[in-house]
Amino acid sequence: VSPAIVIRNARVLTMGSGPAPRRGQAMRQLGVIDRADVLMSDGVIRAVTPTGSGLRIEAEPQEIDAAGRVLMPGFVDCHSHLCWGGSRVDEWERQLAGETYQQILAGGGGIMSTVRATRESSAGALACDLLGRIDQAVGTGTTTVEVKTGYGLSAEGELKMLEAIQKARQYAVADIAPTLLLGHAIDPAFARASDFVDETIARTLPSASAEATRLTGLSAEMIAIDVFCERSAWSVEQATRLLAAGGDLGHPTRVHADQFTSMGMIGRAVSLNARSVDHLEATTADDARLLGASETFGVILPCCGFHVDGRYANGRMLVDAGVKLALATNANPGSAPCPSMLMAIALGVRFGKLTVSEALVAATVNAAGVLGLRDRGFIAPGARADLILLREHDERAVAYEFGSNPVEMTIINGKLVSN
Ligand SMILES: [Zn+2]
Repeated sequence: VSPAIVIRNARVLTMGSGPAPRRGQAMRQLGVIDRADVLMSDGVIRAVTPTGSGLRIEAEPQEIDAAGRVLMPGFVDCHSHLCWGGSRVDEWERQLAGETYQQILAGGGGIMSTVRATRESSAGALACDLLGRIDQAVGTGTTTVEVKTGYGLSAEGELKMLEAIQKARQYAVADIAPTLLLGHAIDPAFARASDFVDETIARTLPSASAEATRLTGLSAEMIAIDVFCERSAWSVEQATRLLAAGGDLGHPTRVHADQFTSMGMIGRAVSLNARSVDHLEATTADDARLLGASETFGVILPCCGFHVDGRYANGRMLVDAGVKLALATNANPGSAPCPSMLMAIALGVRFGKLTVSEALVAATVNAAGVLGLRDRGFIAPGARADLILLREHDERAVAYEFGSNPVEMTIINGKLVSN
């Protein structure tokens, strides 16, 4: 139970009505009420009324005068790898000095160095680091964050990551949605890739699935199964097998697709009725249309292009094709060391060619849809009270500014958590 808070005189971005995912023109509608009062109690928004229309309040609430500043839903980061052990700063410096990614991989670097460090860390240490990173995200306006496993590879390693994520769920101020990224790298300890794939599908998947629902108390439909489909990782055939098996266990399915290579995974994901396809830097116009005609979300991750190679997904093409688009950080120790949705939005507008309104919808209500969370990402009576109050009177500042923080105040589950 949290005490009532009323925020008065705010420029409220309601994001229009309800949780239904937006596509096309609807992604430009922020449902602005120029001056409104928002009342919340016990973690839930109770009323949204134009200022001066006589909002009646029973108990004595904490009152905040927004003085015309923007109040909007907190950001939902629907794609992150925030749980990891070790550091890849050294290898980044070597890359800056001219070593190629292939040379670094050959020297035991890249994703396998994170796998080794994560395997060597305890669940407690992983949870502790994860909580610190989530605090950084909350400070920049994130109120719900998805966290993937994926640096364990083995059943044992994945279960330890799951345990760390669950520990963090108990203490984090933000809400954490766990995802089982069981198909990440191919474990080089296996002589044949197909043996590792068979092992993952036959053994790791069922045990991780059972353990995830038991540990978290969530139903299978709130825990996605994810896979990285790429030439150096899981093939389209292998990824399809894993996702089909995950779907049979009642999980939504997601896939890292088209990051470097358009391999045909989009069509496969659509026919599997996957929840989302994420990355999309190499996606063709034909695949964008296919996706736009489906119920599968597209998720773009522009922090990766900024940090690694200057390649960005064409958000403009995807929205124009009717794709239900979301935007996320992809925060991870290799390709996107960035927990800030503000940065993802700034890049999504500049390089993904989204309008500011589209980027804000992609970072809130559509992102919540990717996670199957229908109670957040918009401001309306009955919605979860996850809100951010900006320092600014103009929401375009969220995308326009970079390297600063326009978030003045963050409310999660009806509680004031920062600033
Ligand atoms: Zn990712």
